[in-house]
Amino acid sequence: LGEFGLIERLAAIAQQGQKASPHLIVGIGDDCAVWRVGDWVQLATTDTMVAGVHFLPNMPWRDVGWKIVAVNVSDIAAMGGTPSYGLATLGLPPGMPIAALEELYEGINEACTSYGLAVVGGDIVKADQAFVTLALIGEAALDASEQPMLMTRSAAKAGDAIAVTGCLGDSAAGLELLKTGRAKESPDDDYLARTHLRPQPRLEIGRRAVQVGVRCAIDVSDGLLQDVGHVCKASKLEARLYSEKLPLSPALKRILSEEALSLAASGGEDYELVLVAARPLLEALSSSSEVSITIIGEMTAGTPGRVSLLNARGEELTLTMGGWDHLRGSL
Ligand SMILES: [Mg+2]
Repeated sequence: LGEFGLIERLAAIAQQGQKASPHLIVGIGDDCAVWRVGDWVQLATTDTMVAGVHFLPNMPWRDVGWKIVAVNVSDIAAMGGTPSYGLATLGLPPGMPIAALEELYEGINEACTSYGLAVVGGDIVKADQAFVTLALIGEAALDASEQPMLMTRSAAKAGDAIAVTGCLGDSAAGLELLKTGRAKESPDDDYLARTHLRPQPRLEIGRRAVQVGVRCAIDVSDGLLQDVGHVCKASKLEARLYSEKLPLSPALKRILSEEALSLAASGGEDYELVLVAARPLLEALSSSSEVSITIIGEMTAGTPGRVSLLNARGEELTLTMGGWDHLRGSL
């Protein structure tokens, strides 16, 4: 069934129980849920990291703390919002040292300070495996006509260009290096490992994108092809991506040159933003941005839900690794 099939089944049940609410703007199936409270537009998202499933058992607790905040902030960034308050739930196996939990909270605090939010409550439960869940609330702005300024997965139009911030594949490469104990042997290794341990969500770019009129985005958590696939499904369009346009870091090209393209296309956990809008809009955003924004393809009417990756000769590439599906994969 997989993670996405399961989400669809459970969403069908949840929607039966949902009374039609005039305040709900975006329900299940986007990076955040969105609703209106008076003059405010609120966003909500949640993510969990389980030891041995979402992070290596030897990952420093401070980095786990940073990352659980960063991955949630990334979902708020993908809607063009601003994070405000979080609730953290910890699952603790017997005998977990207090010092580890303090480190975890120091990492949480570091990320909260960087991204301007606060953890204001939560819960602690006994569990077989250590885990941390963060539920995060944020807000979106209203435009001059009181309409919420949001980026959703369903707002792509045929002919729109597809762009991505930063570089792709570094986090997945860093995970490979950490698993094989190769990290920290060179500055490149160190950079890739750090990208995996300390993702930097694109909060500022998300906010600027929505301000200049971009209305469709997603963050890259499962892998570029899979995440662009979510946009295609929601927008009922096909995406064409060009392999030679995918932004690769010099470190990735040096360390894992053969796997670089596959890691960039489907590695996952990049926490970059995919932005979909008219090409001139993305070009203007790119030229005024400190972080690189690269146009990597376009949306077409084509076959709704389909993503094709083409090489420089226009031939379609097929990758065996289809992006991450968290219920199937484990470390
Ligand atoms: Mg997301």
